[in-house]
Amino acid sequence: MERLQKVIAHAGVASRRKAEELIKQGKVKVNGKTVTELGTKVTASDKIEVEGVKIERENKVYYLFYKPSGVISAVSDDKNRKVVTDYFQHVEERIYPVGRLDYDTSGLLLLTNDGEFANLLTHPKYEVPKTYVARVKGLVKREVIKKLEKGIKLEDGMTAPSRAKVISADKQKDKTILEITIHEGRNRQVRRMLEAVGHPVQKLKRERYAFLHLTGLNAGEARELTPHEVKQLR
Ligand code: URA
Repeated sequence: MERLQKVIAHAGVASRRKAEELIKQGKVKVNGKTVTELGTKVTASDKIEVEGVKIERENKVYYLFYKPSGVISAVSDDKNRKVVTDYFQHVEERIYPVGRLDYDTSGLLLLTNDGEFANLLTHPKYEVPKTYVARVKGLVKREVIKKLEKGIKLEDGMTAPSRAKVISADKQKDKTILEITIHEGRNRQVRRMLEAVGHPVQKLKRERYAFLHLTGLNAGEARELTPHEVKQLR
């Protein structure tokens, strides 16, 4: 049981003091009944409305997930394909992915129920560095790496400067493994950039997101972010 004004403040609706005023002014309902008593205690299942709007009382949770390839970055799919939240059936909170990875891309994906956090990280201005490892067709020359780093002209405009390097090349199999770090999050951006320079992607994995990496996780596994990591990302 918690005091009503505390629950309202925690939900981010108003400060504790303002919450007390709202209660006194008769603007708060608990399970449909107006409550003006400041000491009122509520349980987790009580429905609280402030000025007619139901407040969200879920704890904020943050997960780092190693998305396998062949999974949709969404909470549901009209074609009934596997979605990322299928891996979080034990989680009560209604989490969703922060941005997305293509169906056939694997790697690091964050999930949360904190809308403000998700909006912040996916805002183009925020420019979180994201590092991908790509296996591409062909042998990638130095000039191509330079082009990728400078910017590539795509249908939706030039790409911002990126960092790229060759990890290994296989002459016989005619393929290259390269690492590329971009600061934008356009749809299928890495695939389109590499396609544009004549090296179609055969396999793509996101290895890092800001300072976060996949160490210790296998595909399909997740861990919670620490409070410190959440703070650092904000
Ligand atoms: N770029 C892509 O092309 N695909 C992804 O999933 C992420 C970045």
